[in-house]
Amino acid sequence: MRIGDYRVGMQWVAVDGVPRRVEAFADLKPASRPPMTCLSCGQSVVAKLGAKVAPHAAHLPNSVCALSSGESVLHFNVKMLLALHLRELSTLYVVRDCAGREHGECSGRAEPEEWCAPRWDHVEVEYTVGSRRPDIALLASGRAVGAVEVLVSHSVDDAKSLAFDEQKLSWIEVSALRWVMLQPRGDEEHPLPITRGVPGNDWWCSRHSPELVGDRPRRRR
Ligand SMILES: [Zn+2]
Ligand SMILES: [Zn+2]
Repeated sequence: MRIGDYRVGMQWVAVDGVPRRVEAFADLKPASRPPMTCLSCGQSVVAKLGAKVAPHAAHLPNSVCALSSGESVLHFNVKMLLALHLRELSTLYVVRDCAGREHGECSGRAEPEEWCAPRWDHVEVEYTVGSRRPDIALLASGRAVGAVEVLVSHSVDDAKSLAFDEQKLSWIEVSALRWVMLQPRGDEEHPLPITRGVPGNDWWCSRHSPELVGDRPRRRR
């Protein structure tokens, strides 16, 4: 599945200022549905809940919104759904991609492990930590302890990972497309695939192991 194959629209809207899944209104006749607005731009949106389409909401013609490209809608949907999911979890099992995949495709995966981050009791999107706004912030007793980044096209860069380090945030990066395909529960049997994660060590498959492939540069954190 490539981003071009992702044709689902916005799955979340604001109703009276509260984020709601669009599909929650599928049983209501169109005239009975509450007014809905876009969580990103605040403009009115219309629920599309016909039998032939995946439930979603659409902007009115001619409205301008950042959530108009497939990439940004994919990022938005996964961010919201993953945040909802994380609210129900207090421990998270992850499985790391091969850190050598930058040097070529690699399907190698490590063994599932419990992500050794501090326990969180609250999950927020659009939450500012220091100078950054992670896609999803994990909080414990009102303090940010972790961050989840949803990867569509831009991996966490050095500046962002440094900023997370300074805030003492544990963080993971999750591929949006892979999440959509697997919708993993994040338990031991269905661990969350992560492209990167701190704390923890990078993992290398036998084909890309630095000892085997020589002295090429190590991944930067
Ligand atoms: Zn919008
Ligand atoms: Zn590999």
